[in-house]
Amino acid sequence: MPIRATVWGENVHEQKNKAVAENYPKGMHAQIAARLNEDKNIKATTVTLQDAEHGMTEAKLDDTDVLVWWGHAAHDKVDDAIVERVATRVWQGMGLIVLHSGHHSKLFKRLMGAPANLHWREAGERERIWVVNPGHPIAKGLPEYFELETEEMYGEPFTVPEPLETVFISWFQGGEVFRSGLTYRRGAGNIFYFRPGHETYPTYHDKTVGQVLRNAVNWAYNAERHAELLKAPNRPVEQAIEHIEERGAHLTKEMMQAATDWAETSKSR
Ligand code: ZN
Repeated sequence: MPIRATVWGENVHEQKNKAVAENYPKGMHAQIAARLNEDKNIKATTVTLQDAEHGMTEAKLDDTDVLVWWGHAAHDKVDDAIVERVATRVWQGMGLIVLHSGHHSKLFKRLMGAPANLHWREAGERERIWVVNPGHPIAKGLPEYFELETEEMYGEPFTVPEPLETVFISWFQGGEVFRSGLTYRRGAGNIFYFRPGHETYPTYHDKTVGQVLRNAVNWAYNAERHAELLKAPNRPVEQAIEHIEERGAHLTKEMMQAATDWAETSKSR
C-alpha cells in the first residue's frame, strides 16, 4: 500500500495575491501534492484551512501516514484543539513535514517548544542549498548543492531546539545562511522542517524541491502507532521486575489519598 500523505494548505494568499495565484492556480497544496504523486509509493491528497475542522478530522488523520503543512498568513486561525489533536498524532507516530513559513505555525511551535524565530527578507534572492548530510535518505539522489533563482531569505539564528540531524544549509545572495533542512523526533513521530517555499516564487515547481519532498515523505513514514506513549502509568512495587522492598516516604500514596479525599468532599457538597 502506498504512503498516504495529506497536504495541508492554508489557501489564503492564493485567493488574495495575483502573483501567488499565477504561480499556483490550483493552490500551493495541489502543486505540492502533484509533486508527491510523482512517486508511485506515495498517494497524496489535500485539505485546507477552510475545510471543516481545517480538514484535520479524526477520520482524515486515521487516513494519514505523513502530514505536510504549509501555512503563513493565518496561523492564528487554526484552532488550538486541532493543533493539540494533530500534535497527539505526531507523538503516536504520524510523520510531519513542515514547510517554509510553517515554522511559525502553532503546530510547529507546539512540537518544538520554542519560538522558532528567524530573520527574513523578501527580495527574490538566489538561494544555494548545500547538502551537508549526503548519506541521509532525504538527500537521496541530490547533487552536492542546488539553487533556487528567486527565494525569500531566511537567516540565522533560527530559534529551534538543536535538531536530530541537519540535512541542508542554505546560503543567500545577500550573505545570510540558514539551517534549511532539519529532522526531529517527537514521541514516535518523525518531523522534517524544509525551508524553501515562499508563495510569490515558483519553488514547488522546481524538480529538485519535488525530489526533497518525496524523499522526506518516505523518510518520515512510520507504519506503527504508539498510543501507550500518551499515558504515564504508575507501576506498583508488587509489579517491579525485580523484587524490591518499599521504603522511604510515600508521596504517591499521599497524593492518591488526597485525590480520594477531595473527590469525597466534592460529592458531599
Ligand atoms: Zn515566505
